[in-house]
Amino acid sequence: MRTTTRIDQLRAVVAAQRRRGRRIGLVPTMGALHEGHLSLIRLAKRKSDFVVVSIFLNPTQFGPKEDLRRYPRDLKGDAAKCRRAGADLIFAPGVKEVYPEGFSTYVNVEGITQGLCGASRPGHFRGVATVVCKLLSMVRPDLAVFGQKDAQQAAVIKRMVRDLDLAVKIAIGPIVREPDGLAMSSRNACLTPEERKQAAALYRSLKLARRMVRDGERETGAVKREMARLLRREAPLGAIDYIEIVDNETLRPERKVPGKALVALAVKFPKTRLIDNAVL
Ligand code: AMP
Repeated sequence: MRTTTRIDQLRAVVAAQRRRGRRIGLVPTMGALHEGHLSLIRLAKRKSDFVVVSIFLNPTQFGPKEDLRRYPRDLKGDAAKCRRAGADLIFAPGVKEVYPEGFSTYVNVEGITQGLCGASRPGHFRGVATVVCKLLSMVRPDLAVFGQKDAQQAAVIKRMVRDLDLAVKIAIGPIVREPDGLAMSSRNACLTPEERKQAAALYRSLKLARRMVRDGERETGAVKREMARLLRREAPLGAIDYIEIVDNETLRPERKVPGKALVALAVKFPKTRLIDNAVL
């Protein structure tokens, strides 16, 4: 497994593989890799022959007051994990390589970026779509793999690929969780021990939603109220940013639980914002 920080080297290595008839897979990440990321690498390896993992802490998807500077980094540890998971190449560019002097072109996906995380993180999905579009253009993979953990991001990328006629297949891997149900996230390392304990309540609130809907509740308002009560009780250190029940395709909030529903939430602990979701 090789590591490169340069776009020209990345292109040369991938082109040589493509000439040999290999199918190329891409797994974009921001590093501080955990089992969730590794499951995506393994998924990419099953569905393609040569897997590129990008590790790039993308500044354009962080707001000015967000946690870019505190975000965990561990390139050495990441490389060892990638190798064990079956990655073939790590692309870990610096910020100047991706956004050179004078950079001024952005990809803006409209509509589905307005609600959920888009509402509390203005500009976030513009940064995500731009960097993913650039990575797809650099690697030109046959397949790119993303996680259901970031459900809105997955929807935004699928929309962008369709709208811009990008010749890549998108695969979405399931959410990998800790034993107590907390969705794995690089940001979990930033939680204090007490916050970490309370953070498991996010998953319990999603399971409560699932139970209520299975038992016949159709009013999204009633489900959201019970979820909020659970979170206020069991995760008092966290402030609820949003709890929404949306149509899984359009991501629009609904008053009645739709046929294909996604329940999504974000909770802000003092220094760490967590998100999670479940398909109902
Ligand atoms: P990030 O490094 O946070 O940008 O995440 C890189 C990719 O890993 C994204 O497609 C995420 O959705 C995915 N991912 C993050 N956490 C998990 C998880 N717990 N389970 C599955 N995929 C995940």
